[in-house]
Amino acid sequence: MTDDSTPEVLTGGCLCGHIRFEATGDPYDPHLCSCPHCTRLSGGPFMGWVGFQRTAFTWTGPGMPGSFRSWPTLERWFCPVCATPLGAAGDGEELLGVCLSALDDCDGITPIGHSFRDRTPTWLPPIPSTLPTS
Ligand SMILES: [Zn+2]
Ligand SMILES: [Zn+2]
Repeated sequence: MTDDSTPEVLTGGCLCGHIRFEATGDPYDPHLCSCPHCTRLSGGPFMGWVGFQRTAFTWTGPGMPGSFRSWPTLERWFCPVCATPLGAAGDGEELLGVCLSALDDCDGITPIGHSFRDRTPTWLPPIPSTLPTS
């Protein structure tokens, strides 16, 4: 499903500009995650994620991301210069996850779920558009 608020090519990158990427196709399952790994890496009570087909996603340089396995089967990407979290993917999965915070404009992508909502601090009210997914 595509509507006028979703551009055909989504672009993003890290804070310092070393890493840029492009994604096309429909964004899949935009959601927030408050798992222990996401909160450690984000500096906040959740990370925002959106999925794209691997075949529809391209690192466009100039640099290439560093990677870290937070699970044996999950690779997370970040900028090796400025440490911005960029995305993640499970081994063998057709979809990869892009950090909402790494997109140049994520305003058209509204999270619909919130994983590990029960781990959010009590001062954070539920995000109204989301449903708990675990
Ligand atoms: Zn960077
Ligand atoms: Zn997470």
